[in-house]
Amino acid sequence: MTLAPVSRSTAAGESRHYRELFRHTLSRQILLYFMPLLLLAVFFHIQYRHLLRESARAHLAVIAEQQAATFDLFLRERLTNLANIIEDPLFTPHARDEAYMSVRLATLQQTSDAFADLGVVSVDGQLVTYVGPVTFPEGVNYHDEPWFAELLAGEDRSLITEIYLGFRGRPHFTIAVKRARNGSVQVLRSTLSPERLAEYLATLEGASEVHAAVVSATGILQVAAPRGGSALRDSRFSPPRQPARGIMPQDRAAGVPEYAYAWLRETPWALVVTEAPNPAGGGIAAFPGNIFGITVAFFALMGVVILGRARQLVGKQLAVEHHEAELSGQLVQAAKLASVGELAAGIAHEINNPLAVIAEEVGVLKDSLDPALVQEGDPPIDLPEHLHAIHEAVFRCRDITRKLLGFVRQTEVRVERQDLHAILDDVVDGMLGNELTISSITVVREYDPTVLEILTDRNQLVQVFVNLVKNAVDAMPRGGTLTIMTRHLEDRVAIAMRDSGCGIPAAQLDQIFMPFFTTKEPGSGTGLGLSVSYTIIKTFGGTVRVDSAPGHGSTFTIELPYHPS
Ligand code: ADP
Repeated sequence: MTLAPVSRSTAAGESRHYRELFRHTLSRQILLYFMPLLLLAVFFHIQYRHLLRESARAHLAVIAEQQAATFDLFLRERLTNLANIIEDPLFTPHARDEAYMSVRLATLQQTSDAFADLGVVSVDGQLVTYVGPVTFPEGVNYHDEPWFAELLAGEDRSLITEIYLGFRGRPHFTIAVKRARNGSVQVLRSTLSPERLAEYLATLEGASEVHAAVVSATGILQVAAPRGGSALRDSRFSPPRQPARGIMPQDRAAGVPEYAYAWLRETPWALVVTEAPNPAGGGIAAFPGNIFGITVAFFALMGVVILGRARQLVGKQLAVEHHEAELSGQLVQAAKLASVGELAAGIAHEINNPLAVIAEEVGVLKDSLDPALVQEGDPPIDLPEHLHAIHEAVFRCRDITRKLLGFVRQTEVRVERQDLHAILDDVVDGMLGNELTISSITVVREYDPTVLEILTDRNQLVQVFVNLVKNAVDAMPRGGTLTIMTRHLEDRVAIAMRDSGCGIPAAQLDQIFMPFFTTKEPGSGTGLGLSVSYTIIKTFGGTVRVDSAPGHGSTFTIELPYHPS
């Protein structure tokens, strides 16, 4: 049976014990209350972020769809504006009239400032009239321009080109309408400024939350908001044609962020929106500061509560320990008194012998002084010899009473360097020497010579050894061997007492250290010896162990901290 060591109760030891207890209690409280809450908070946080992300995605998709519809409408209106001019009966007679066309351009620009110019093109591609900011060289012909060929050949009466450089060498769009009447075909074209379109894009609903761009089917950037100047380059976006609207996930490798897209109806362009980074660092899916704040405040509150609770628990635990220490102190004292009682019987016997010697010697001296008893011819008495015998007997008595007093008086723990082997010898030779001899018990000493002095309270250690030796004596009523061994084990020293006595049944091994457990006759055992010894060894920071089996004797092993000088 091994008993846990307990540190000595010094002030520094107490505060270390308090800190250890507090740390232990606090970590238990944290594990008990904090961890489940933390896991729950993390779980909800992840769920919340996920939901937020999903709703942000849905929001992005709605913005893309709405912007695409509005942009579509805008383009259709521009085509209608041009169609109205070409369908006007006055158009044909004034097709080559620049003044007329200037008025029409002014009217167009009132409806939208995206219109940059206006030009009439004949069926063979010749630009016959032009009003606008560009000065073309003579004889501009659109015959070989793909858009012109497409418009003439196609069934549609209108067309919007992709962004291109054209004759003017600057990125622009052309929108054109044709009119076929009486076998002759006329084409009216106008240039739309990419900058104006970008500005328009930036005014659409939700524009402040997103970056929007218009890309062609081949992924060429047509218009980009809010920074519109970078059109006519490969965009990073290539939305699929089917489905016509949706969300494309982030492609880290290609550096493409997550985006929503919606294809226009009027022309094969897709409107693409990405989430604009929030200057405040949040973004659409940001974790709201107030919830974060509430969580932090909640955890701080929990921390304070747990800290308070841990302090309270430690306070209670210390009070219990204090109470236990008090009780065990009382127990030590009670056991000491009981041991003294037991010792007193033995000591009375010890003192009786010298007292008998004194009485006898005094009697002899007294008789030698009585003239009635002294007869002529009697040899003279040896006065010094008798006085010496009395002196010896008196000193023996004094020795015994001194030991007894020393044993009883000591109540405070007084730690000093002590010779362990000398203490053991004192117990088996001095205090209990007679008892061992009378009981025919041979004492065998197997001392480890490397064990020198130990730091201990001599009287208390003596009390422990006396208890163990007396138990061994009781266990060997017909004599036997008591072997006392000491061993040096790194930072500890072990003292083992092995007797060849009756041994202890297994069922009792767990009980013998309990106070008042005894198997001895009433009057001869108090049941306090081992419990007191255990308490004393505990206060020394040591352990007590017993190995025993009925019929095979018992070995009590004490381990104490060892501090060689
Ligand atoms: P007490 O000696 O007054 O009975 P202890 O606490 O010293 O009280 O011992 C408790 C019991 O442990 C004893 O009554 C005895 O049964 C058992 N015991 C202790 N030491 C030995 C031993 N060396 N051999 C056999 N039994 C022992």
